[in-house]
Amino acid sequence: MRLELQAGPPPPPGSWSDRELELMRRCLRLARAAGRRGEVPVGALVERDGRVLGVGSNRVEVGQDASLHAELVALRAASHRVGGWRLDGATLYSTLEPCPMCAGAALLARVSQVVYGALDPRKGADMSAYDVLSNSSGNHHPLVSRGCLGQESGALLQAFFQRLRQ
Ligand SMILES: [Zn+2]
Repeated sequence: MRLELQAGPPPPPGSWSDRELELMRRCLRLARAAGRRGEVPVGALVERDGRVLGVGSNRVEVGQDASLHAELVALRAASHRVGGWRLDGATLYSTLEPCPMCAGAALLARVSQVVYGALDPRKGADMSAYDVLSNSSGNHHPLVSRGCLGQESGALLQAFFQRLRQ
C-alpha cells in the first residue's frame, strides 16, 4: 500500500563503489543512532573530494523543530565547515529519499550528486511524491543515484514504525 515505506529498487550487483557503500553504511549508523533516541531513523552526510564535510541524523523530536532532518543537518554542517553555502562538487548521501525541504536545500546549495537508499512514497521528492530533484526545469540539477543499501535503510524504517504501532 502506498503509505508503507519500501526499499528502493535493488541495484544491479556491483553497481555501487566501495566508497559509496562505506559512506552509506556510515549514514546507516547515524540512522540507527537516531532511532535509539526515538527519532525516525534517517542518517545523512555530505562528501566532497574524498572528505566528509558534514554528517547529520534526524533530530526533529529532540530539537522540536520540523526542519531538523538528517539531510538538512548534514548540509548545514558542511556549509559551516567550508565557510560558505555553495557545495558544488559535493555529494549528499541519505538513507532515505529526501523530502521536498531537503531536496530543495540540496538544489539551493548546488550539490552535484545525491545518493540515497530507500524510497519514501509519502514525502519523497525525487520520484515518489514530488519531483523536486528530478524536475528538469530549473538550471541546476544534481545527478541522482537511488537504492544504495536501500533494503537495509527501508528495513530499519519499517522496524521503527512497527515498534511505534505496538
Ligand atoms: Zn527532509
